[in-house]
Amino acid sequence: MTASHVFDQAPRRAYWEVTRACDLACRHCRAEAAPEADPAELTPEEGQRLLRGLARFGSPLPHLVLTGGDPLKRADLFSLIETARALGFAVSVAPSGTPLLNARAIWRLKAAGVEAISLSLDGADAARHDGLRGVPGCFERTLAAARECAAAGLPFQVNTLVSEETLDDLPAIHRLAAALDAARWSLFFLVAVGRGRVLRPITAEACERLFEQLLDLAGTPGPAITTTEAPHFRRVARERARRAGHEERPQRAAGHAAGIRDGNGIMFISHAGEVHPSGFLPLSAGNVRTADPVALYRDSGLFGLLRRVDLFGGRCGRCEYRHVCGGSRSRAWASTGDPLAEDPLCLYEPRS
Ligand code: SF4
Repeated sequence: MTASHVFDQAPRRAYWEVTRACDLACRHCRAEAAPEADPAELTPEEGQRLLRGLARFGSPLPHLVLTGGDPLKRADLFSLIETARALGFAVSVAPSGTPLLNARAIWRLKAAGVEAISLSLDGADAARHDGLRGVPGCFERTLAAARECAAAGLPFQVNTLVSEETLDDLPAIHRLAAALDAARWSLFFLVAVGRGRVLRPITAEACERLFEQLLDLAGTPGPAITTTEAPHFRRVARERARRAGHEERPQRAAGHAAGIRDGNGIMFISHAGEVHPSGFLPLSAGNVRTADPVALYRDSGLFGLLRRVDLFGGRCGRCEYRHVCGGSRSRAWASTGDPLAEDPLCLYEPRS
């Protein structure tokens, strides 16, 4: 395996679902969030211990993403941020577009040293966005939050779901994200878990066309473009770069660093302390209540398997792009029950 594409000592990004409580009812919610916190949620003391445990990854520490549910529903959120910052973590927060995300909260996040927040926009107008989010007024609140972030000097990324329901709206959402001065546009390609089972994934052909459009957009002014659960964007970016006669990938597109995918460069800690390879792959390596999160990431059989591209099945296993891509392990699992199977959202036919 290409050593530079293996992240076996520390993740680049550690996601912690600090709560599943949320006042929205999004149709595609991975967490199947509810208004009230789950009693199984990690306590404030357990949360502080988790942060100290993650700090044992050492330098360079993973980027810590506090997600939910809605992190603003957690009473000790700012205490957790304070501890994380003191331990040396760069921290991002993924709040929900509810009345809790008001100007005071945004300026507090900025003052607490949060590097960036994410704001979800799944439609370019209120009817489409609020229709998916399940709560009227969410679209307008999200736009107000984006403007407040700009005023506070807090960078934000726009997160957008990619499914049959949003596909035709994506160009307009990109224009909106650019107009709002988002630093990044992060497209999440539907994995049918949680409430997301009621939505329809796009086809592999449509995905290929969308990647080409995204690479066109990446060459224009506007936010940087990244993908989640679609690492084959890197393949398409490399194919285009090769056609253009230069081997290096476009710098403003193609997502996170080559090789990063579920369990390899990414770990996800659930509200109840379970350690998963991603938020969309609900297989658990163990629980931080009883095990060291660093050991679970480095040494668990589950994470070890997901770093072995030679074990991947189907086209992903023999693909010449498997080290830089490797396919979505979450989608492979959601589609077949096997996290090592091929990613059905990719239509590439490997040369060998
Ligand atoms: S076949 Fe698998 S490894 Fe190859 S580009 Fe497609 S998703 Fe990635």
